[in-house]
Order: sequence, then C-alpha cells, then structure tokens
Amino acid sequence: MPKRLPKLPTLLQSKIYKTGQTRSANDDVVFQNRANRNGTVLIPFESIHLFDISVFTSNRFESGFIVLISPEAYYTNPDALALMKARKLKLGVNTILFYETRAQWNEFNPYKNKLTIAEKRTSPIDGHFVARILSSNSKDEEKIILGFNTSNCKGAGIRVAEYASLLTIKASHLQLEYLFWLCYNSKEVALDAGMTESEIENRIDAISTACNNQKLSDTDRLYKTRIIDNAKNTICPLCLKKLSAEAFLLNFFESSERSDINKDISPINLFHINQLKIGEFNHAPYNLAWGHQNCNMICKETGVIETIKWMKEVVVNTIIFNKDSSA
Ligand SMILES: [Zn+2]
Repeated sequence: MPKRLPKLPTLLQSKIYKTGQTRSANDDVVFQNRANRNGTVLIPFESIHLFDISVFTSNRFESGFIVLISPEAYYTNPDALALMKARKLKLGVNTILFYETRAQWNEFNPYKNKLTIAEKRTSPIDGHFVARILSSNSKDEEKIILGFNTSNCKGAGIRVAEYASLLTIKASHLQLEYLFWLCYNSKEVALDAGMTESEIENRIDAISTACNNQKLSDTDRLYKTRIIDNAKNTICPLCLKKLSAEAFLLNFFESSERSDINKDISPINLFHINQLKIGEFNHAPYNLAWGHQNCNMICKETGVIETIKWMKEVVVNTIIFNKDSSA
C-alpha cells in the first residue's frame, strides 16, 4: 500500500477502527472497557478444557492471559489443583482468585491467607486475587471492588472470545473497508462526504490490491458467507438486503434530533457470522460483516445460520398453525 493514502471520512474511519476493540464494560465488572482485541485475555477456569494445552504454554496470546479461578474451586476441589498443575497454572503468576459473591469473601477471605491484590496484567501478576462483589440491597453491605480498579489499570483484561492478534485486527480492518467500497452507492456517498473522485479511486485501488495480496477478497467465499450478494454488493448477512453506504456516515445520536437526515436508513453494526464464543477465535476475516443493528441484535448470541434455522421453524409453525385454525 502506498504510504500516503487519502483519508477516509472521519465517521467511517472510526467505525472501522473500533472493530479492533472490545465492547464496553463498567467498573463493576472485571473486564477492561473498550480495549484493543490483542490485549491480555481473561480465561475462566471452568473453560480451560475448551483450549488446547499449547494455549497456556506458548505465546498464543500476544499480551498474555490470566486465568480466573473461584475460591471454592481453588480451596476445595483437588481436581482443580491437578488441572492447574497440568496446564502450568500458578496462583499469582498467571492465575488469580476471582471473588464474585459475599459468601465467597466471607468463607475464603483472602486476607486471612495473607493474599495480596493483583494489579498487573503481565505475568508474573504479583498478586493473588481480584474482587467484584456488588452491594446487596437487603443488607447494608458495601460493594467490594479490589484489584484492577485504578485509573491507569482498569479491568484485568478482555473476554477471551473477543481476542484477535494485531495481524488479524489489521486484516479485518482491510476487509471491512473493502466491504464498505462494495456497497452499491459507496462512491457517491464518499463524494458527498468530501472525498474527491481521484482520492476515492486511489483508496479503492490500494485497498483492493492489499486485500487481493492477503487473500481477503475471495468473492465466492464472501458470497457463501452471506457477506455480499451475486452482484458483488455488500449485504446484511441476516435479511440479505443491500446496505447503503450512507449508514456508515451517519451519526445516529445526532440524527434523532435533526430533521434533515434520512430516517429510513437503519444503523449498521459489525456482525460476527459465527458468534463469538469461548474456545474459538471468531473475530477474523470472512467471519466479519456489516449488517443492520436490528438484525444483529437477533443473531448476536447464536450466530447467523442458527438464527435462520430458528426463523424457518417459526415460519413453518405459523403456516401450520394458520392452516389448522382455518380448517
Ligand atoms: Zn438486515
């Protein structure tokens, strides 16, 4: 790619950039708020069997990992300790106790065992526990938020399902911009947003070449995954309607208050065709698409294909139901 690529309109640029970040999280949870996807990952101890053993012994995660184990498992389950040993997991090095309930706090109080609060995302963590215990309404008990709660180190890490390497994040950015340009009206929308015709051509050229070189523009694969249609236009993977490039350049917060903006355009979101789940690395090219926010809300948890199967069942049942009622 040439060094000086013409700039994209700001809203589009930031929409693409943000796909490399995790979703938001507040201070009451153990996760970081909108961090880069290649950050330190948090792996719940109950899920470690979903990962190949090499994940714990190699540098699979660019910024390392922290395993969160419950105090019950650590103090009362001998199998858990054996499993930790087999995976080379050590409290205070790459594993910490995670307190989520007051009962855990009272029964296995970390201070009684002279444990210290963990504050560092890189191994060795130099600490043994983190607590995110909410206040209970019934009794006058204050919440207990300890570890990774200072302004310069908020949140212990990211959800492991959201992880992607820097290389994958960059490849995804390229493919997602490529998909913007495949929207049926991308050029006129970019012109309207202030790019010149030659800037648009330069940008399309550079992105297409980069995608081609990195095998990110396989039309057949994008079509089969419901990311583009047979006219090679970007579509919503659920409802299959063509996406308008305008949706990338609308500030929907602002548009609700303005009357001069086309209200027929639905907001669009990043889609994961196969949903993100622990044990898989699904934030990757050919599994990412743009689609309607409303459609995404329906299939976010189960993935696109399972959602369609469910919808088919709903439609078939409805037809049978209607037939029965008219008989
Ligand atoms: Zn849709």
